[in-house]
Amino acid sequence: MTGVARGAGNGAVPAAGARTLYTAAWVLPVVTPPIQDGAVLVDGERIAWVGRADAAPVSPDATRVVALGNAVLLPGLVNAHTHLELTSLRGFLEGLDFRTWLRTLTSVRREVLSRQDLLDAARLGLVEALRHGITTVADTTDSAVSLTAMRELGVRGIGYVEVFGPDPAHRDDALALLQERVTALRAGDTALVRVGVSPHAPYTVSASLFAATADYARAEQLPMAVHIAESAAETAFVCTGTGPFADALRARGIAVAPQARSPIALLERTGVLAARPLLIHAIRADDEDLARIAAHGATIVHCPISNAKLGHGVAPLDRMLAHGIATGLGSDSVASNDRMHLLEEARQATLLHAIRAEAPDSLSAQAALALATQGGAAALGLSTSIGTVEVGKDADLAAFSLDGPDLQPVHDPAVTLVHALAGRAVAMLVTVAGRERVRDGIVTGADPAWADRAAAAGVRLREWRQRVPA
Ligand SMILES: [Zn+2]
Repeated sequence: MTGVARGAGNGAVPAAGARTLYTAAWVLPVVTPPIQDGAVLVDGERIAWVGRADAAPVSPDATRVVALGNAVLLPGLVNAHTHLELTSLRGFLEGLDFRTWLRTLTSVRREVLSRQDLLDAARLGLVEALRHGITTVADTTDSAVSLTAMRELGVRGIGYVEVFGPDPAHRDDALALLQERVTALRAGDTALVRVGVSPHAPYTVSASLFAATADYARAEQLPMAVHIAESAAETAFVCTGTGPFADALRARGIAVAPQARSPIALLERTGVLAARPLLIHAIRADDEDLARIAAHGATIVHCPISNAKLGHGVAPLDRMLAHGIATGLGSDSVASNDRMHLLEEARQATLLHAIRAEAPDSLSAQAALALATQGGAAALGLSTSIGTVEVGKDADLAAFSLDGPDLQPVHDPAVTLVHALAGRAVAMLVTVAGRERVRDGIVTGADPAWADRAAAAGVRLREWRQRVPA
């Protein structure tokens, strides 16, 4: 990437640096067709102009020009489901059944990983996100450290603070603790980073705690996210009061009974759907469920790789979209994915969709890329500010190089991004609200000490594994 500053401004125009013109072989606005030899003018935090580079309104004395060359410039990617604090668990929980996977994860988070470890993990997760062109994250978090990490690294996001409590007798205590934490954390909200709430899942949250948390979220206008309709074990727990989650709760003396015809129906009955949450996974949702989700204006994040890796199945993405539900893509944690690369989620979404439909391109690369940008923004309620390259939106942008014989020729940049670049490319440039967070593939503000400490945490995890085999 070459950047050429073209002189200082004067009183009549913004100061140099305030206006930057990015030119690239391709600009992909998502909301309109790709622009060959395109350009995007950024004025402060916002996009001021989009079009062909040769028509760009450059003020020679006030516009910095950054020529990205043979690259594609697109909206910053929206990762609508992460657990940044679990980055150190990459590759640590392989091959476990879902309940053992969850139990082991919970054990090491409490017994091995300190708050410093979790914060370093969240920071490194965001470095990985930025390197892969992700500018917005929707992070569910037990420790809330991801909110700190987002502010440090200048990434946009929502940190949904988790609440747990499967025993209805503990509802008031659980809610009070959540309220206390959220009240304190909310003081740190910024234009880019907001706190939300996440009642974790039906097997860790009682129906009465779901209802109380939904009331609280609605009253306080807090964003809410919930893991739902993910596994067969969860469906058995909700619908028939059976299976491994039911057995585990009964062993703790907690009564379990059938609760609803489906996990989504449980959310409707407890008032959660009415709070228009972000529904994480929604794999086991039938047409009636999806109609109820659509009727309430709730949204979904589709996590194709995590769903596949944990053996949970293929979510009915085609039906979600047919119901008009705002749907984004998420990586989930690297403990169930091993990567955080949203272009790869888009590629897997197209492949799984084609397998399910037994038809090629039933989810096109263009549609998958729209899910990773515009769809994620809509699912998070951020459509007015991000998700497309449009005049007036915040300048959240990502650029990937198209150099290299394995990427050429480019017939359609969306196809190249989703099917050829996915899973490996490092962004050459990333901006969030006009600020450059990645330049030449390097994340600004990252501290090498984070990785050193994370490596030490990895050693402690392996030592724990030797003491406590899976
Ligand atoms: Zn998750």
